[in-house]
Amino acid sequence: FATLPDLIRAHARGQGDKIALAEAGGELDYAGLDALMDRVAAGLQRDGIAQGSPVAIIAAASIEYAAVFLGALRAGCVATPLAPSSTGEALVAMVADCGAAITFIDADAATTLAGQHVPGKLVHLKSLATWLAPEGSVPAPVTIAPQDGFNIIYSSGTTGTPKGIVQSHAMRWAHIARNAAAGFDSAVTMIATPLYSNTTLVSFLPTLGWGGTVVLMKKFDARGYLQLAERHRATHTMLVPVQYHRIMALPDFDSFDLSSFRLKTSTSAPFSAALKADVVARWPGMLLEYYGMTEGGASTGLNATAHPDKLHTVGVPLPGHEIRLIDDEGNEVAPGEMGEVVGRSPTMMTGYHGRSEATAAAEWHDADGNRYIRHGDVGRFDEDGFLILMDRKKDLIISGGFNIYPTDLEVVLRQHPAVSDCSVIGVPSEAWGETPVGFYVLDTGVAASAEEIRQWVNTQLGKTQRLSELHAIEELPRSAIGKVLKRELRDRLAGEDA
Ligand code: ATP
Ligand code: MG
Repeated sequence: FATLPDLIRAHARGQGDKIALAEAGGELDYAGLDALMDRVAAGLQRDGIAQGSPVAIIAAASIEYAAVFLGALRAGCVATPLAPSSTGEALVAMVADCGAAITFIDADAATTLAGQHVPGKLVHLKSLATWLAPEGSVPAPVTIAPQDGFNIIYSSGTTGTPKGIVQSHAMRWAHIARNAAAGFDSAVTMIATPLYSNTTLVSFLPTLGWGGTVVLMKKFDARGYLQLAERHRATHTMLVPVQYHRIMALPDFDSFDLSSFRLKTSTSAPFSAALKADVVARWPGMLLEYYGMTEGGASTGLNATAHPDKLHTVGVPLPGHEIRLIDDEGNEVAPGEMGEVVGRSPTMMTGYHGRSEATAAAEWHDADGNRYIRHGDVGRFDEDGFLILMDRKKDLIISGGFNIYPTDLEVVLRQHPAVSDCSVIGVPSEAWGETPVGFYVLDTGVAASAEEIRQWVNTQLGKTQRLSELHAIEELPRSAIGKVLKRELRDRLAGEDA
């Protein structure tokens, strides 16, 4: 059984001087990466960090970060990248929850954690050089089994308290293998999302697994991204929809030479059909959208370039991935009906770290006893087997006994020329139980009042779907990975009433 560190060693031997990792301030070739991973692994062993224990990292993406992540794997430890955008309290809670005995931090994380007591040892990446085992160190070899933990990723907490999702080496291996035909061996992959997110790891890990080059961007900005992509002749990238939105909105987008791109991917949040069409039309290379969750129930993929008539869908289940749709009673819905997505695949999580009850609650079993993961999203399959994803189950609005899907309203709202971004939530209503309320970001240079837009939208909607309120907002609240935080919109309204 070859682990990712084994693959990297093979690349170090076969193409040692090829660049593995690049960032604005430097680069590291495969031989250098392999040697650095050895020094990290030997340093962990020297510090008594046992095989199987989590190694936490709280930092912006960098070459050193990547080396610590991968070096921890070589020591048989479980890489545990945490979101630096979290509060100090939340970070301490996550370190305690996973039980990491060592945590690597950068300068910003040190500021966030000031005054907090972080359990275990803290190592500042600034002084990594003095912590590392001496040059030329070789760690004691460890034997890793396919089911051993590879990483823990805390769920992004879009809907609740973050839970540690444990992914095994087998699961990561399946994911890397799945990308055999994606050309990662000759890829220059632009990474502009944080390294603690599965969204990032699904292109970061296969690039290194197949021996390509990763270009890391610490902090995303649309113009900086295009300049870096042009300079490195980037071939692959993973971006979240809001990043595509910002990039495509640059007035001089078309003046950048992006002819080197072969594969652009997206995942993690709704990607509007109009934006997909724009990316397909103006940015060279294939556009692939994935739908899935960190828990890895099952994933779908949409080749947007090949299916211009399916841009309102998230595509079809990937090979080896099985999706079913169930109703509130846990029974499969009839073909074409709407239901909660449940999925199974070789890339399913082992479970939530230390939370067997939450793990059980996230599972569904078919008549043969096969284990599926509940996605918490509602959708339906069209007649060609493409998944039309609606909303998170928690975000459905039940008004006067009717189910309202916020997505239906958002699609219409987005068509108004004065709307550049929008989100719809349900709020309590005495008359209806719940009623839909919208938020929109005004497109600069277009004049329209909220009331004009609301009335226009309502003429396009069914009687039971109409927006009862529409509010202008400067910017939608989003997580660090670009997901709209609907709970913050709810809090905002509740706050105004109080
Ligand atoms: P938490 O589970 O902590 O609330 P989260 O669900 O946002 O956070 P992730 O596992 O990162 O954490 O995200 C998975 C979710 O993201 C999916 O369940 C779905 O709601 C949404 N999602 C992923 N891909 C897409 C996509 N292509 N289109 C629309 N939504 C998507
Ligand atoms: Mg989730």
